[in-house]
Amino acid sequence: MSDLSQRALHLLQTIFGYPAFRGQQADIVETIASGGDALVLMPTGGGKSLCYQIPALLRDGVGVVVSPLIALMQDQVDALDELGVRAAFLNSTQSWQEASRVERLVRNGELDLLYVAPERLLTPRCMELLQEAKIALFAIDEAHCVSQWGHDFRPEYIRLSVLHEQFPDVPRIALTATADQQTREEIVRRLALDDAREFISSFDRPNIRYQIVEKSNGRKQLLDFIGSEHPGDAGVVYCLSRKKVEEVAQFLVESGIEALPYHAGMNLDTRTSNQARFLREEGIVMVATIAFGMGIDKPDVRFVAHLDLPKSIEGYYQETGRAGRDGAPANAWMAYGLQDVVQQRRMIDESEADETYKRVQSQKLDAMLGLCETVGCRRVRLLSYFGQHSEPCGNCDTCLNPPVTYDATVPVQKLLSTIYRCGQRFGAGHVFDVLRGMDTDKVRQWKHEQLSVFGIGSDIGDQEWRAILRQVIAMDLVHVDPDAYNSLRLTESARPVLRGERAVQLRRYVKPVKAKRSQTKA
Ligand code: ADP
Ligand code: ZN
Repeated sequence: MSDLSQRALHLLQTIFGYPAFRGQQADIVETIASGGDALVLMPTGGGKSLCYQIPALLRDGVGVVVSPLIALMQDQVDALDELGVRAAFLNSTQSWQEASRVERLVRNGELDLLYVAPERLLTPRCMELLQEAKIALFAIDEAHCVSQWGHDFRPEYIRLSVLHEQFPDVPRIALTATADQQTREEIVRRLALDDAREFISSFDRPNIRYQIVEKSNGRKQLLDFIGSEHPGDAGVVYCLSRKKVEEVAQFLVESGIEALPYHAGMNLDTRTSNQARFLREEGIVMVATIAFGMGIDKPDVRFVAHLDLPKSIEGYYQETGRAGRDGAPANAWMAYGLQDVVQQRRMIDESEADETYKRVQSQKLDAMLGLCETVGCRRVRLLSYFGQHSEPCGNCDTCLNPPVTYDATVPVQKLLSTIYRCGQRFGAGHVFDVLRGMDTDKVRQWKHEQLSVFGIGSDIGDQEWRAILRQVIAMDLVHVDPDAYNSLRLTESARPVLRGERAVQLRRYVKPVKAKRSQTKA
């Protein structure tokens, strides 16, 4: 062991109190401590902080940590204080006096770590301060914020390339938990990290079993899932809206499950006390919006359930990643249906954001839908999104119970023609009625019983038509128009299918069966 790594290990044990480095931490620490640059991709909870904290202690001068998460700076500094590490921060929440005090510490070389918000760092005053100080390293946390493709894009991050220009000899480490290939390349390019060593940890969470089921009655399915696989276990149920959080929590409580709601619209006291109970007591099910989970470190969460579709794979991965931190078997379960696809597409269409942003959101949603509709291994799909290759896992629903696919070209053509013949201005319900030859008021009002397509889909049930429609919307053959009563319209990609030039493979609809207890608890 080199002298440097020996000193690093000594700091890890004496200051931070951990016996050994995890994963690639030791290599990363050595790279930075010896003056090199690094790009670190590590899932949340993987231990990124030590990767720059220890090199900052090993090198002369102050380690400057650029982070957009102003709200967390105080906690980080407090925690370091506790360990006897000399840390401080500079951001807009501070008084002028307080900022001056910190600046004096920097000038006098009395700090080990300085946390700075990017907009603050880029001010002339702060750049001057850094020129006068001895700097150990620059750590650029949440480095994916540099990507215009990401949902966390921050324009100031792009200007962080000045760090390389003005301090060419200071080592830099960029860290992130969310980076697909595209984002990774953008980080390297924009932050001028061409010479950086890349440290890419595995994103795999082998103890998590992924399951995505067709939604029929979401709440009821959730109850069956908890009842059969997780009685008495702690878990998190994610819902999209605050209202749904309240309703689902109440439903679970009425069904005899110890559930609590959590969302940002609740008063602070209740929210805090619900969170405290979830952390402290055993077997509580937290029903929450995505507001819940930031910084929650409860190792024995046995399941994470989604009753609504997350907006992106990043979100899904982060939320499901809160299950099974202790390494024991855990479930990531989701119920997903036609309504989810329609709703998410609509939210993108109706948002005020500019076209580029909408296109990015739409691509992210497509990737998420691809994960839901895949007939291959979920884990392979998930990891490949993060640029990691893997083999079928044997621990997800599609591996354990391979879905049946079939050539659905004919039923899809029937569906597409019916949408077309009805004038592309009706929603799913009416289109199904026409397909199945139902005698309804609306059918008669529009004389749709006279259409050539009337009743051509009567061999297929309503549920199955829904499954087909969901998949063709996910495949972007059909568009749901939120401005016109959710009417269905054909997209350009529908043409080749209608003309018989393109075949369509779909997953066979399976009636939901009661979940069996599929794994023993640790
Ligand atoms: P990230 O920033 O990647 O989400 P953190 O740096 O906050 O992760 O670390 C997550 C948790 O893991 C923290 O509680 C941290 O103290 C702990 N941790 C990190 N490295 C080690 C290690 N080598 N041994 C034990 N615990 C560690
Ligand atoms: Zn699998």
